[in-house]
Amino acid sequence: MTGEATPERRAELHANLTAVRERIRTACHRAGRDEREITLIAVTKFFPASDVRLLADLGVRDIGENRDQEARRKMADPSLEALALTVHFLGQLQTNKAPSVVSYADTIHSVDRPRLVAALDRAAASAGRRPQALVQVGLDDDPTRGGVAPNGAQELADAIAGAAALDLAGVMAVAPRGGQPDAAFARLRSVADGIRATHPGATWVSAGMSADLEAAVRHGATHLRVGSAILGSRPTLR
Ligand SMILES: *Cc1c(COP(=O)(O)O)cnc(C)c1O
Repeated sequence: MTGEATPERRAELHANLTAVRERIRTACHRAGRDEREITLIAVTKFFPASDVRLLADLGVRDIGENRDQEARRKMADPSLEALALTVHFLGQLQTNKAPSVVSYADTIHSVDRPRLVAALDRAAASAGRRPQALVQVGLDDDPTRGGVAPNGAQELADAIAGAAALDLAGVMAVAPRGGQPDAAFARLRSVADGIRATHPGATWVSAGMSADLEAAVRHGATHLRVGSAILGSRPTLR
């Protein structure tokens, strides 16, 4: 998708971003949390580098992407070079894409199996990189959505923590489709607490998207991944 940083687009992103920040503020207030505990990640998949630039200009430095090829191309845009972005990779990942992903991603939220830990560790070591990695926890029984079963999360966290070129940051989840986000995020939190008991540095809880960020804030999310509420709706064809 090509795009331009028009004043109209800037105004639209600004309005959306203001509304999302207000939702986060309100949710934190209701949950008795400090909003400074929350990092907002703008998920720019399907949207052009020009939007990333506009968002950076509006104070967003955390950018999320979920498809390797698109993300790699977008992040290579020369106009993004000086912006000091933190790039979060959120999508399901094949092991053969590990070298590509570690070349531009600072954090990888979707680590869900030991083979992927090994591939990312190898790729990061040979690239001289040290990305942060999160255990993606599956909160429903749909294997197409990724994630390790909650009872396998601790073992995967141990594997990441033991990988020389990866830093274990915490856990990530996507709420089940059409389900109850509160129950799902409460479960995620208990998995996160368990992991933190053995890995005190694993403080991130990446949960909450456009539709359910309030529930995520209620259950201890530290990182919200918000796409459509900021960027607008994506094409439905994927
Ligand atoms: C696309 C995506 C998001 C953002 O979803 P919205 O509903 O547009 O906010 C968050 N997390 C992951 C893993 C995604 O792929």
